[in-house]
Amino acid sequence: MTTVQAPRSGAAKSGVETFDSLDPATDEVVGTYPVHTAEDVEAAVARAREAARWWDSLGFEGRAERLRRWKGIVARRLSELCDVVSKETGKPTGDAQLEAVLAIEHIAWAAKHARKVLGRQRRSPGLLLSNQAATVEYQPLGVVGVIGPWNYPVFTPLGSISYALAAGNAVVFKPSEYTPGVGKWLVDAFAEAVPEQPVLQLVTGYGATGAALTKSGVDKIAFTGSTATGKKIMAAAAETLTPVVIEAGGKDPVLVDADADLDAAAEATVWGAFSNSGQTCVGVERVYVHERVYDEFVAKVVERAGTVRAGTGEGAHYGPMTMPAQLDVVRRHIADALARGGRALVGGADAVGDRYVEPTVLVDVPEDSLAVREETFGPTVTIAKVRDMDEAVAKANDSCYGLGSTVFAKRRGMELARRLRTGQTAINAPLSFAGIASLPFGGVGDSGFGRIHGPEGLREFARAKAIARQRFTAPLALTTFARTKKTEEMVTKLIRRLHGRS
Ligand code: NDP
Repeated sequence: MTTVQAPRSGAAKSGVETFDSLDPATDEVVGTYPVHTAEDVEAAVARAREAARWWDSLGFEGRAERLRRWKGIVARRLSELCDVVSKETGKPTGDAQLEAVLAIEHIAWAAKHARKVLGRQRRSPGLLLSNQAATVEYQPLGVVGVIGPWNYPVFTPLGSISYALAAGNAVVFKPSEYTPGVGKWLVDAFAEAVPEQPVLQLVTGYGATGAALTKSGVDKIAFTGSTATGKKIMAAAAETLTPVVIEAGGKDPVLVDADADLDAAAEATVWGAFSNSGQTCVGVERVYVHERVYDEFVAKVVERAGTVRAGTGEGAHYGPMTMPAQLDVVRRHIADALARGGRALVGGADAVGDRYVEPTVLVDVPEDSLAVREETFGPTVTIAKVRDMDEAVAKANDSCYGLGSTVFAKRRGMELARRLRTGQTAINAPLSFAGIASLPFGGVGDSGFGRIHGPEGLREFARAKAIARQRFTAPLALTTFARTKKTEEMVTKLIRRLHGRS
């Protein structure tokens, strides 16, 4: 049996502590990176403060032009980036390409729309203050710290970084210890496009480096990872009243109504559950199917799942588990499901190997078992039969998580989608919301809060600045000690006329 190792620490000749990034398929060392200390992080944030002033001074157009340059470099050297992603995560290059392509779309959208969303807008001052001109604009926060995960090491951090940059902030990025090479590649590509100032910097290391970034005095932390770490980050950030965006995990459900296209639903379930070894925060983890189509749907899922293969190279649909510790979680969830009366129609107890997990389809799993309640983050899925779609909605919503969800239905798709307590829902296609740059993305409950992507994602990294400019002296002078009785009587009359009739 091969033992899968966690990233290893070492000390370079210079005395700087380092760690190795490993290929999860082979344990081959693919890169060595410094473990940045709290002092290193503080120095990076200090440099970022300078850079932020310069970046802000470029204005929307100056930044957009440079972001377009960056996206051009990423697009032209896509295959190089995909190789790095594939080496560090073990995912097939086709999957690496998918996440990179979507990330490029997000850079483009953020660059193009920042002025419209964040630029100065006029607001109505209202009748009482009609002598004022009211405007609001969204100014950059300053320096944003981004703490990224390993499962989508391009798409996920760039969902924060692109929007934070387009909003005029400098960014200090701490990638996961499993994917520092991807982080470095992205930051180096940005430095090629923007050589003048360190607007986007990289710090590498373990959780302690991320913790140092949280406490470094940045103006916001954007975190993607587990709920448990999200809570720690929020607690640490509370000490300095640093705002946070938390994109934590999910337990995403799929609802299949009686009139659904079952082939499409089965295809989406299989891909959503198993692609990227199930290590997708908005991946499919549970399915609730109308009893009228349950048997047919399950048969279609089983047939398709039987053709999906874990491995490397030609013909493999997904790779090894990126984080070795996750193997135990998946093993535990499958064992618990089987011990409590669940049945594995594909895969099962033996599906979890030393590095790879074979596709596993579980049915008859009690709703209070680990495989239904906790984030598995592996290539497994539970399928349950429901009497009707009200039961499906109730069961789907009975979760501490609320990230993504999918509905397959012809007649009631929109209605069911609106009733699901998740940040985003796809109807009749898997995960579509994540690729639509104009749509916000984020969680409910233990899945976190705050929004990346879309206009909401731009505003997440900006502060609203309200300005009221007096255009002429008010006929009714209210904010002065010289206010007269007559003025007060006139205001009383006016307000009764305006609001007292309803
Ligand atoms: P973590 O939440 O521990 O790590 C995510 C990021 O946070 C990494 O960059 C990590 O650094 C960093 N980090 C860890 N501890 C701290 C801290 N105290 N302060 C600041 N930053 C910190 O997730 P894991 O990678 O350990 O994965 C565990 C589980 O999280 C998975 O099994 C999965 O369920 C869930 N997960 C969810 C993701 C999502 O997309 N929502 C993504 C990844 C994981 P480092 O890697 O160097 O420790």
